Amino acid sequence: MSEPMVAVEGLTRTYRTGKVEVPALRGASFSVASGELVAIKGRSGSGKTTLLNLIGGLDTADAGTVRVAGKDIGGLPEDDLLALRRDVIGFVFQSHGLIPVLSAAENVEVPLRLARTAPAERDKRVQVLLGLVGLADHAEQRPYELSGGQRQRVAIARALANRPRLLLADEPTGQLDSETAAAIMPLLRAVVASEGVTVLVATHDQALLGEADRVLHLEDGAITETPVPAA
Ligand code: ADP
Ligand code: MG
Repeated sequence: MSEPMVAVEGLTRTYRTGKVEVPALRGASFSVASGELVAIKGRSGSGKTTLLNLIGGLDTADAGTVRVAGKDIGGLPEDDLLALRRDVIGFVFQSHGLIPVLSAAENVEVPLRLARTAPAERDKRVQVLLGLVGLADHAEQRPYELSGGQRQRVAIARALANRPRLLLADEPTGQLDSETAAAIMPLLRAVVASEGVTVLVATHDQALLGEADRVLHLEDGAITETPVPAA
């Protein structure tokens, strides 16, 4: 067996504001194999964002370990964490976070510029990615000229720009109507197939789970695995 892309062991995170303690994670453990599309379901407030932030190196756990592509990210110096977030992990959030004054193509290009990719290669990569998310004909449109679903597709393309090995998507359909939302999971499935990326997607929308390889349930700060619902 090859090493899992994500291995989480006994992850604990308690938020403290004044005297109030909110235990968001209480020893969550699971792993995700390379090339899997795994959904994490849980009601609002169950700790999904906390979990993804810890896996993405955006937050630090109180206890437990997170290994991404074999690296224990808890012990990494800040520079290595930055490199991990830039080179290994792609993020998609509930809000698309596109830059309003840039076109769809330019938004996808931003991470390629930051990585100092050569212009010709940047153009090629942007075209491939916009094609992959079904927006080849919308390259020049700005975010306000796109629908909510299209914007989220641009955000997915942008997250993939630097060929991450792991894509973390935090309720990517949270602001979409149910029909538009239903198209996002098949898109993530296509992304796994064509980019070879591993995808971990948090959602509280039951309707999205059918497309996943596995469904993890986050409840009371811990993870249990539940069957993938029939389509
Ligand atoms: P989800 O993404 O599943 O909705 P979150 O991870 O955002 O859940 O939150 C889990 C719990 O931690 C909730 O009770 C939430 O109110 C609390 N929480 C999240 N972020 C913070 C924070 N920065 N400070 C204090 N409490 C927080
Ligand atoms: Mg959340």
